[in-house]
Amino acid sequence: MKLISICPNCREEIKIPSFWIADRIDLAKAKGQEFESSCKRCNKKTIIHVDDVKAVADKTVAIIGLIAFFPALIASYFLWQYGFIAYATIAFPVIASSSARHNQRTKINQFNLLHYDSKRNKR
Ligand SMILES: [Zn+2]
Repeated sequence: MKLISICPNCREEIKIPSFWIADRIDLAKAKGQEFESSCKRCNKKTIIHVDDVKAVADKTVAIIGLIAFFPALIASYFLWQYGFIAYATIAFPVIASSSARHNQRTKINQFNLLHYDSKRNKR
């Protein structure tokens, strides 16, 4: 999961560092209800309200799945002679990456559903 906001000047995504941030309350605690960030594309500084920050999926989950797949493939090759256990090693990265995807989806929904300031007008 990554956190982004849209630059009001050029509509480019502004990435917000989001280690250990689960929701907008956490983000407001870490950075304040409104914080300044600058756009990588147009270099314009902009004030971002935590409720304008959106969680989206990033590629980390897919990359982890891919990295886990190759050792599993090699392990299956060597375990082939022992029969069913080869299926288990090949199934593992598939299960692991689909549960990581599910996990990410849950986190994104959790972030996007909870607004910090519910009375605030949406832009
Ligand atoms: Zn910009």
